[in-house]
Amino acid sequence: MIRKKIKVTNRMGMHARPATMIVKAATKYRAEFHIIKDDMDINGRSIMGVMTLAAEYNSELELVADGVDEEFLIKEISELFAANFGEEQMKILKGLAVSEGIAIGKARIIEREKHKIERKLIEKSEVTKELERFNGDVKAALAEIDSLIDNYAASQEHKDILTTQKMILQDPEFVNRVGKQIRNELCSVEHAVSNYFTEVAGIFHKMNNDFYAQRVSDYEDVAYRLLSHTLKQRRSNLADLDENSVLFMENITPSFVTRVFAKRIQGLATVQGARNSHSSIIARSMQLPMLVGIPDLLREVKEGDQVILDGFSGDMLIDPTEEELQKYRKIYEQEKSYQSKLQKLIDLKAVTADGKKIKLLSNIEIPDELDQVVRLKSEGIGLFRTEFLFIDKNDLPDENEQYEIYQKIAAKIYPETVIIRTIDVGGDKLSSILNLRKETNPNLGCRGIRISFQNIAIFQQQIRAILRANQGNISIMFPMISDVDEVIKAKEIIAECCRELQSQKVECNENIRIGAMIEVPSAVITSDAIARECDFLSIGTNDLVQYTLAVDRDNEGVAQYYKTCHPSVLRSIKMTVENAHKAGIPVAVCGEMASNLKYVKLLIGLGVDELSVSPGRLLRVKDKILQTDYIAARKMIEKVLLESSSEQIKAIIRKDNEENI
Ligand code: PEP
Ligand code: MG
Repeated sequence: MIRKKIKVTNRMGMHARPATMIVKAATKYRAEFHIIKDDMDINGRSIMGVMTLAAEYNSELELVADGVDEEFLIKEISELFAANFGEEQMKILKGLAVSEGIAIGKARIIEREKHKIERKLIEKSEVTKELERFNGDVKAALAEIDSLIDNYAASQEHKDILTTQKMILQDPEFVNRVGKQIRNELCSVEHAVSNYFTEVAGIFHKMNNDFYAQRVSDYEDVAYRLLSHTLKQRRSNLADLDENSVLFMENITPSFVTRVFAKRIQGLATVQGARNSHSSIIARSMQLPMLVGIPDLLREVKEGDQVILDGFSGDMLIDPTEEELQKYRKIYEQEKSYQSKLQKLIDLKAVTADGKKIKLLSNIEIPDELDQVVRLKSEGIGLFRTEFLFIDKNDLPDENEQYEIYQKIAAKIYPETVIIRTIDVGGDKLSSILNLRKETNPNLGCRGIRISFQNIAIFQQQIRAILRANQGNISIMFPMISDVDEVIKAKEIIAECCRELQSQKVECNENIRIGAMIEVPSAVITSDAIARECDFLSIGTNDLVQYTLAVDRDNEGVAQYYKTCHPSVLRSIKMTVENAHKAGIPVAVCGEMASNLKYVKLLIGLGVDELSVSPGRLLRVKDKILQTDYIAARKMIEKVLLESSSEQIKAIIRKDNEENI
């Protein structure tokens, strides 16, 4: 008798085809043949028997043969397993590459946490409000599924799954039952919804049938989606990650990117996401390869799979062949050697080929990025997004804590300068500690400078901390300015804080440059007046594109309308530059457009004085500036500004990039 342990290594497991192959092979021999899995022992010549093992990928089996030709039988069956039953192993999924680089490693799937449901009862007077809340949450969940169907569902199968989820949410039985529990039993929405889905799951489980038991996951998915809206939370648990991990998630928040970066993971991929979301910006800044918008990601990838993430092409290879692995290891090495070539540019100034100086600065989100900025000899920090000190924290950092942070940054970057942008929460950067009210249209709501004006004490605290930390190399910048009155008001608050500090005999430096971000059309149009009140302007193209073209920067579904080189955007930049220069002040671009090599020449041609880019892109952008000819850039922009179609503009840029490779 021969016994042999074997592992199922084909991705699909022992479905009908491999089972048939096993049975066919076994019938050629005379020896008795059994397969054992856990406490099941089946006849290896019975197709039904082999199928009922339900042996999935990675299951452990034992082959048992007894008879004259047992050795040959085991050999042939083992070969079938080793060849993965002839199945193609490698899978390639397509995503949107939002942060360049190659990641090779093992898949780590970060699961969403189960929602914690409080069994809460409501007052009778709250019933109407609670029913409205339920209807609103169902609508929001339906809209989310619609958007997934339209934008993410690549296969018919995925569309069908999502359509089923919609039907579950629209099922009159569900709507009536939850409604009744709210009305008659005074349950809160989350309580009633969770009761319903727990009951349904129980019914399916009792059927003791695999097919129906699997349907439970559809219901669980719907419940999770709906409760995420009800509880306004999407939570994930951070498993222990290491340097070999490539992370897979449904979606990722900006703060989570920074947390996983600290674990030195190789890269990450998400089902949802968009190019200019803050999560993507941070991944780029940290040079963490990242793909977003892969609909089938979590269904195709299994924990521990070998994967390759191509942050240039957007390909995600699961179980790559040896050939692909070698190819990518080579690209990985080439990329590393390009990076080391770029290091030689560290000591060079960013000057165009014909001698025009472009000041090249860095954007930072968290103080941890500072070491890299200093190492790269960046000419300062053109944007410090201070809201990251506030986001996902349990407490607000007080004046002293902020002072220490700003003071350390200013000292570390000295004699270069740091532009501290006052908090810009809102949009996708919601902060729980600021107790922001839920808004139906957050990007048009209370964000940017509006938050500071509505929370004057917090604003003053930040200004005081900045003034105290100023060693002469700090500037203050205000986000989302929409007219000159806001700049005047903000400046008055600075003056007030100065007076207060002085009267309290607290050391501070009032000699501080003040700038405004130009990121909404009204600011562009009145940039002449704004420029007269400022020491510098900085164009936030991420928002400028969003607000000029009325297209949500975080919504992948409308990504095709987010056109960075739309004529209206380019004319807005031109107008802002001209107005800044008329007022005798410099103008920077600190949005992602500045980090994109395709647009560097365009911005130089438009007369922008400074580019502030994510540190991960700094040397590449410098390389591009060094190769760019200012006179040629002016000529190109003259041509570009005559165009009224973004497609034509794109074509000019493409042609120019090809000619100047
Ligand atoms: C911008 O809008 O371009 C910008 C730099 O600010 P943020 O991305 O933080 O909104
Ligand atoms: Mg902005």
